[in-house]
Amino acid sequence: MAHTPDSTRQASHSTMMRCPGCDLVLQACHTDDGHLAICPRCATKIAQSRRLSFNGEIALTLTILLLFFPAHLLPLLSIDLLGKTVSASVLTGAGILWSDFPFVAALVMVCATLAPLIFTTALLILHVARHRGAIQWFRPAINVVDHCRHWVMADVLMVSLAIACFKIQDYATLHFSLGLACYALIQILLSVLLVRVNTRRYWDAFSSHGRQVGAKSLVRCGHCGLTQAAVPSLPCQRCHQPIHSRIARSEQKTWACLITASIFLFPANLYPISILFSNGIRLEDTIFSGVASLINNGMPGIAAIIFTASIVVPVAKILGLGLILTSLRLPTGIPPRRFMWLYRGVKWIGKWSMMDLFVIAFMVALIDRGRIMDFTPGPGAIAFGIVVVFTMLATEFLDTRLIWDHHEQQTKRPLTDR
Ligand SMILES: [Zn+2]
Ligand SMILES: [Zn+2]
Repeated sequence: MAHTPDSTRQASHSTMMRCPGCDLVLQACHTDDGHLAICPRCATKIAQSRRLSFNGEIALTLTILLLFFPAHLLPLLSIDLLGKTVSASVLTGAGILWSDFPFVAALVMVCATLAPLIFTTALLILHVARHRGAIQWFRPAINVVDHCRHWVMADVLMVSLAIACFKIQDYATLHFSLGLACYALIQILLSVLLVRVNTRRYWDAFSSHGRQVGAKSLVRCGHCGLTQAAVPSLPCQRCHQPIHSRIARSEQKTWACLITASIFLFPANLYPISILFSNGIRLEDTIFSGVASLINNGMPGIAAIIFTASIVVPVAKILGLGLILTSLRLPTGIPPRRFMWLYRGVKWIGKWSMMDLFVIAFMVALIDRGRIMDFTPGPGAIAFGIVVVFTMLATEFLDTRLIWDHHEQQTKRPLTDR
């Protein structure tokens, strides 16, 4: 007799779930009083208030999509550069960058334009599919939303744009255009949307079946967050994605990404990250010399931001993840909760290292005009892009549940609720 996933898994009627951060078995809950529920062991968020309505997300999504094309096609700024007025839009800047540095241009385009566009479009499809109960649309849309959200960096873009404007004021007079207002508004709305959107909440609203499972051998689907009875070789009963109790070869993949990022950190800091031609003089800047020249030009605040984002953040990420990985092999005596804080911190700061690349892209968009003045990224920018991508991948590959597995092995105290 052929077993369907649903028929095989239905067992008792207990409502148990596994914590996504540490795999602890918990009583499933929903908070109706506007509060968050967090795991008592690792402090990972496990449930959100049901009061949050989906209408807010729909309004935000529609507004972003309406503003998207004016923001990308209208000029962001016009600048008076050596007696000539030129205007620049996001797309012209990306086009200029593409001809010499396709990798940097592609990375910036993905984070600044493609990921937000795909994310909001998929979110709109998701709302329609949820409303109509169309699982064939709901499933691919929610996968796209889940994968795209890490590459939407609205807050980083806003800060980068502000820094680029400050830096350009040194060379030219700026006039802000309507495109910039649309662009800034999109980034603010995207930041709000990113905080609100939680794919687990969408799945729970679409279908809550499958909570009826036995207490033994429970697994949590990493895609939709449904806790269900483990059946070897069967995918998740709700989202149909393969279920892994732990991310496969998590340690090896994370180490590989960290080592790659560490190697590229050297060319990223030794080679120039930006090259400015002004009045026939070629000025090359590495990350360090760029920070030093900002201090010399009387911009210590921006210098501190760039120094933190480009030097402190990548190094802190590599050291932090390296420490967590080392703790999985060697006893460190540090409580696992501390490692969870470290992991969450590393994950949050990670995207801020993209800032210098965004600043360069905006600078190229605004002042690459050939002849009198020219601004291009240097080879260091490619290496820096590789560092950013691999540190972000390392965070995705690291399975925090391994921290707790190791802790349990160390204390030789198996969980009573397993
Ligand atoms: Zn937990
Ligand atoms: Zn699932």
